Amino acid sequence: MNFGYHEDCLDHQTGYRHPESPDRLRAIRRSLSRQHGVEYVAADPAPESAVTAVHDAGYVSAIKEFCDDGGGDWDDDTVAVEATWDAALAAAGQAMWAAERALAGDDGRDTPFALGRPPGHHAVADDAMGFCFVNNAAVAARSVIDEGDADRVAILDWDVHHGNGIHDIFYDVGDVYYASIHEDGLYPGSGDVDETGEGEGEGTTLNVPLLPGCGDADYCAAIDDFVGPEFVAFDPDVILVSAGFDAHRHDPISRMRVSTEGYGALTTRMRDIAEEADAGLGFVLEGGYGLDTLAESVTMVHEVFDGREPVEPDEEVKDRATKVFADLRDQGFGEK
Ligand SMILES: [Zn+2]
Repeated sequence: MNFGYHEDCLDHQTGYRHPESPDRLRAIRRSLSRQHGVEYVAADPAPESAVTAVHDAGYVSAIKEFCDDGGGDWDDDTVAVEATWDAALAAAGQAMWAAERALAGDDGRDTPFALGRPPGHHAVADDAMGFCFVNNAAVAARSVIDEGDADRVAILDWDVHHGNGIHDIFYDVGDVYYASIHEDGLYPGSGDVDETGEGEGEGTTLNVPLLPGCGDADYCAAIDDFVGPEFVAFDPDVILVSAGFDAHRHDPISRMRVSTEGYGALTTRMRDIAEEADAGLGFVLEGGYGLDTLAESVTMVHEVFDGREPVEPDEEVKDRATKVFADLRDQGFGEK
């Protein structure tokens, strides 16, 4: 794969014991150093105009000033230093690069993966939250549409948390489809089945809140039965995966049971859906807080594009997942 990576992303220091640390990127790079076919690209940081296309100008000047003044605790978990704003622009720039390369036809071994931090999917139009300052995937999606390179973008967010920021930013627009598979009840508490979009965006928001304990088979079924048919029908020009790896069974902050091999199975599905939809495919890093499992899982995604066939899950879909799937069918999602 081709990885978007910018040194500025290491300078966003969050302090001793914060789970969202620069060591996340170092662990990924260390693991990828043992792989063939890994290329790094340092794409340009996002221009501020791309950021203000999804974030309020007032918020952007406030957070910039906060960082210029040395940073501090923006909220209980969202910590900034002076270098945070540049890191956030760098991370958003890598996401824009991933969307642009995917649209330009980079696929297979050249599939783009933006390795930026701080992550983005919790950042709402007018606020930073949940370790996120700039909504990287949202900036990327909006910019390729505004630039005229894409008519429609679909985003699958498989981070264990609901990406409330992407959800809200695109809730009432029809040109970006946002789908999220997340742990029900976990931070930030949003993302119910009956939140399906409004106005022009009616039917282009899909929330799959799985109960704790769900794993590979449940995630694969959510993609096979809902995300895939929805995305193919939406006919996007590019699909972005907001790729957090905190649903891993050994991640310290969730109760989900996805395995490293399972992330491979999810990856093959998204590759196949992109092919069926005749869309580009790019990945944007979100969360993932077990350094080893994060590094192994990103490496697994890379290996899939390098020819590895991951083992398919052999367990049954759990009853707790089929109940959510029935609710989704009641909302009209899935195979038409
Ligand atoms: Zn997360």
